[in-house]
Amino acid sequence: MTDIVPPTVRFAPSPTGFLHIGNARPALLNWLFRLRHGGRFVLRLDDTDGLRSTEEYAQAVVEDLTWLGILPDAFFRQSDRFALYDQSVQRLIDEGRLYPCYESAEELERRRKLQMARGLPPTYDRAALKLSGSERAALEAEGRQPHWRFLLDHRVVVWNDLSRGEIAIDCTSLSDPILRREDGTYLYTLPSVIDDIDMGITHVIRGEDHITNTAVQIQIFEALGGHVPTFAHHNLLTTASGDGLSKRLGHLSLRQLRDAGMEPMAVASLATLVGSAEAVRPVESMEELAQIVDIARMSHAPAKFDEKELAQLNTRLLHELPYEAVRERLIALDADGGEDFWLAVRGNIIRLADAHDWWDIVSRPLKPVIDDPLVPHAAAGQLPDGPWTKDVWSPFAWQVWTQALAADTGKKGRELFRPLRLALTGREHGPELANLLPLIGRDRARARLEGNEA
Ligand code: GLU
Repeated sequence: MTDIVPPTVRFAPSPTGFLHIGNARPALLNWLFRLRHGGRFVLRLDDTDGLRSTEEYAQAVVEDLTWLGILPDAFFRQSDRFALYDQSVQRLIDEGRLYPCYESAEELERRRKLQMARGLPPTYDRAALKLSGSERAALEAEGRQPHWRFLLDHRVVVWNDLSRGEIAIDCTSLSDPILRREDGTYLYTLPSVIDDIDMGITHVIRGEDHITNTAVQIQIFEALGGHVPTFAHHNLLTTASGDGLSKRLGHLSLRQLRDAGMEPMAVASLATLVGSAEAVRPVESMEELAQIVDIARMSHAPAKFDEKELAQLNTRLLHELPYEAVRERLIALDADGGEDFWLAVRGNIIRLADAHDWWDIVSRPLKPVIDDPLVPHAAAGQLPDGPWTKDVWSPFAWQVWTQALAADTGKKGRELFRPLRLALTGREHGPELANLLPLIGRDRARARLEGNEA
């Protein structure tokens, strides 16, 4: 029997802004992979950039993931782990894979322009590799600190991408990447690999903007003697007009969507089903979504995230949610009118918070709107006896009652129903009156039909 290791995946945002819908995609795809295959989901804050990372954003990441329904099995911050990175750096230096360079940014830029003018590819020429010990010492005596580059093997790196099939990147055309800056701080590339090894990451699921990094990182995995994980690069989300999403611009941040009343499962459904092989539809639970979304069957073209489509999905989702799924939140909204109330109003709301308005309408005093008292007065006189159960207002009973009212008043259709609705709810539109009447109750309904606040 083969020994299948349960997967360990990670989501590794840098806390330099609020998570937006584009970041939610890898977070969710990793989470769904973890739900589908078992294993572990690691949340890792890639916060080696001490200037742009903030505690506020770090906390917001955790909060926003919780809101989405992602509950990591483990949590790390790269800023706690520099000692580990320093050890690996020493190892790479000792093995000749990391070498010191002294060029300033201006020098590099000048060289790059020259190469371009000569029609050469603007890759780093490895000049620093040829420095002798005394030349290096002289540069350091000038006060220069080295930055460190990884010596790439000039070969083609090939991997079998879970999402895109075989990918081959020729590293001959790449510059040796800088892994550590003059001031000793780390760029993203190396700590990510060290952590992936240390945390036993088996699958790296991330956006296709990281494909070139992957070739470099596979070489670093190998240089450090680590197990190379399976990679899956998913397509990216763009705005409806096709622009890329940016964390710094606060594009469609998860908290904006939350504040706009979007349901987490509507966001999760759209963020993962758009640009997949599956139809975009509202899915009620993560477990169910995990069975539908298959990272191996995502489209390779960019996927458009449309806020209007999200709003529609949100409405469709709410209209189908069972009472149990929303009960706690209705209580928190002070709108828990029980199952009958929820079933009566869910088809008429576009955000869960709208349920509060309907609960107010059925359970708190309201000034009725009466343009012409003819129909409301007739209705008040013909109300069935209480107490009102659902049977009293069954569809059949409702039909009999309204037919009697029509006969009495000579009104029908809109001319009959509009004044009834305005008197009973104060609104032109809303849920079926037959469903609202048992919730409003006989006394209150009668008073409203008679034009009294009740
Ligand atoms: N911090 C990187 C990012 O947000 C992580 C990329 C990765 O998953 O390796 O793009």
